Amino acid sequence: MRYISTRGQAPALNFEDVVLTGLASDGGLYVPETVPQFSKDEIAAMAGLPYTEIAFRVMKPFVGGEIDDATFRQLIDDTYATFKHDAVVPVKQLAHNHYLLELFHGPTLAFKDVALQLLGRLLDHFLKKRDEKAVIMGATSGDTGSAAIEGCRHCDNLDIFILHPYNRVSEVQRRQMTTVLANNVHNIAIEGNFDDAQAIVKGSFADQAFLNDTRLVAVNSINWARIMAQIVYYFTSALAVGAPQREVSFTVPSANFGNLFAGYMARQMGLPVKQFVIATNANDILHRTISDNDFSKRDLEATLAPSMDIVVSSNFERLLFDAYDRDSDAVRELLERFQQEPAALAEAPLTKLRERFASHSVDDETILEVIREAFERTGELLDPHTATGYRAAERARSDATTPMITLATAHPAKFSDAVVKAGFDEVTLPPSMSDLMTREERYDVLPAKLRDVQAFVASHRHAS
Ligand SMILES: *Cc1c(COP(=O)(O)O)cnc(C)c1O
Repeated sequence: MRYISTRGQAPALNFEDVVLTGLASDGGLYVPETVPQFSKDEIAAMAGLPYTEIAFRVMKPFVGGEIDDATFRQLIDDTYATFKHDAVVPVKQLAHNHYLLELFHGPTLAFKDVALQLLGRLLDHFLKKRDEKAVIMGATSGDTGSAAIEGCRHCDNLDIFILHPYNRVSEVQRRQMTTVLANNVHNIAIEGNFDDAQAIVKGSFADQAFLNDTRLVAVNSINWARIMAQIVYYFTSALAVGAPQREVSFTVPSANFGNLFAGYMARQMGLPVKQFVIATNANDILHRTISDNDFSKRDLEATLAPSMDIVVSSNFERLLFDAYDRDSDAVRELLERFQQEPAALAEAPLTKLRERFASHSVDDETILEVIREAFERTGELLDPHTATGYRAAERARSDATTPMITLATAHPAKFSDAVVKAGFDEVTLPPSMSDLMTREERYDVLPAKLRDVQAFVASHRHAS
């Protein structure tokens, strides 16, 4: 399998290199050169199989023979053994033709575990094979950091440095990172905000001399392996509600669009998906683009669904690449214009997107209202991110006869503040995490200075 850049000026890569690379050298994102196809019979034959077996079948074509089958199966088995639910990602019925796909049974209680637990193991596998060490650096405002740390804590050939803004993540989120005491895990609290932390990570990727030729790897949501791992649950959940004999629709609480792009891939591979509903919070660039063709940046707003607080939706570029019939020149022009000034999509690609995608934006007040309403109607306590999805599914679905699957992206205990604001008691953490608030923590506080952080990383790597 070969992967090409959405901006057309970077070399094509194989799977191994695309996993180790992240962003393409031309600033684009890697996508598969051709999309693997599954026939209706092949999809039907997956019904009733365990999650790990469906994961193997769905992901195998993307790996393109670069990992032998037995090893790849083992990586998948190890990854999903860390999930607390026997079904890995169970589907619950909420109402007639409305289902909830629970993606939060992994070690850090958010959907990012599905992909990051696998990515850590894939990186370790490839690095061992090459007899190479690598350093991961990432900035987090919450969920990504803890999931990445969990995914890498057992990786001998990797050191992971996660920067979070000092005193600006929730206590549960911080503790999920800082109580992992493995000697290849390094938490840095930056005296600044998330943008400062992000700028230091970007600065480090731009100037890697401080690492003396050790590879620096990104685990942010542009990494192709994360998209690949997320495709799987679109298949398993669709099968659970009657696909491929009937069409299904999905609603996805969205920010960087990695989750929803995985669903789009599932459809391109043959899964019969009628409609995708994009749910956003007040940071609504995706909603404005689909509904008003307003593809422009707005100031960041801090919301009750903080893991969806974004200005730019990086993975949307992958969808634009297809909407523009893979015309990388047009995509590059559009994205360069977008960086400078408000932009708009051309008529034809916009029309194409609107045939398949609808969108809805949910403000904070409505999030609280939805948490109460969903509980009254279904008995389910939704986290604030999932609440945006619940409302968007009801408001933006094209018909009531196609089963709608709303993705539950986090466990309510992870965002207990919002649940309490909605009028409920504090949500208790699941048993596996009940002692989180008393576990020993380890992190270093550093000033928001590139040189200081680089010096810290260079001197604290253990896998060198
Ligand atoms: C990351 C995250 C999202 C947004 O997912 P994208 O793939 O960036 O669109 C939604 N909900 C939760 C809980 C998250 O952690």
